[in-house]
Amino acid sequence: MSIEQLTPFFAPTYENFPKGRTIGLVVLRTSLSELILRTEGTGEPMCREFVQAGQTDKRVVQRLVMTKRKQIAPERRKGREHLRAQNLLRLNKDGVACALNTNAPCEMCIDCFLYGFAAGGGGAQKSRVWTEDAFSILTATETLSDRTINAIFENGTMRDEKGNPSTALNTSEYIKPGVHFLDVVTLKDVTADEFRYVLGNILLTSRYGAVSSRVGRMENQILGIFGGIAELPSSLELVQAVHDHFIINNKPLEHPLDNGELIAATQAVISSWTTRRGISVQLSNDELEAVIADIDHHWSDAEREVFLQRLDASYESFRQVSEKKSKGKKKETVEAGN
Ligand SMILES: [Zn+2]
Repeated sequence: MSIEQLTPFFAPTYENFPKGRTIGLVVLRTSLSELILRTEGTGEPMCREFVQAGQTDKRVVQRLVMTKRKQIAPERRKGREHLRAQNLLRLNKDGVACALNTNAPCEMCIDCFLYGFAAGGGGAQKSRVWTEDAFSILTATETLSDRTINAIFENGTMRDEKGNPSTALNTSEYIKPGVHFLDVVTLKDVTADEFRYVLGNILLTSRYGAVSSRVGRMENQILGIFGGIAELPSSLELVQAVHDHFIINNKPLEHPLDNGELIAATQAVISSWTTRRGISVQLSNDELEAVIADIDHHWSDAEREVFLQRLDASYESFRQVSEKKSKGKKKETVEAGN
């Protein structure tokens, strides 16, 4: 249970200025139920994009896209549930509890310090968790399906007394269970506890997109952790390289894709990444397992409260600075008004 291999890439304490310490994560996100990732609102098509199939395979294909927002919002909410449970979400300047997607974040909780905020009042904190759109390995045609919902007649069937079929109410498109998205997440200048917080959020979040009791279930797995001074190749480059790996090895690229084969292909592709500029270390499989065990330990029922309280306390001196600053500002405005 140790994350010490990553120590050179952690910030010893939170600081306001970036110092280039970069940790890269390779995340495999797999749908476990029907999944709906639409742009906004109902009736919109599923998010998808035309891209080159591979890096050597130059054909153009349409892949499903899991946008940054669709990934990060549920993960932040997951962490915030626990901050709320322990009263660690602060009140904003209007006396309202910190909330996502409002103009008045509290600017003082773990979530605000780590994932950033843009406050209406002019204050801002840059996010230190960088995500990008994740792409499906297989094409949209392989991974999407349609379901038509028919009106039910009073006799409880979809045919009336004369045997006429009911008209379709609407057709809804969904992503099949067992569809894989590969994703690269970058953490900039985070402390060890901040790293544990973000990874806990990724590993504990199990619902994405349009959520109900039946749809939206996903599982996240960390397939690689890297340290250095530069970002990893992008999610798209990774998906393309994995696609090429399947083609070269004559493996079929069709749904359902074998989990084990996909993981092996991804691990083969990322194992060469430490030769890239600015990427110095990849954790071995044993080290990766130790990191995940460390995260599980810190998020366990016995440890979670102590862990979150300690992380929360680590920002204390910065809170006092910003409180003083805002008090100072208020005074200035009053004086200027006079
Ligand atoms: Zn906050």
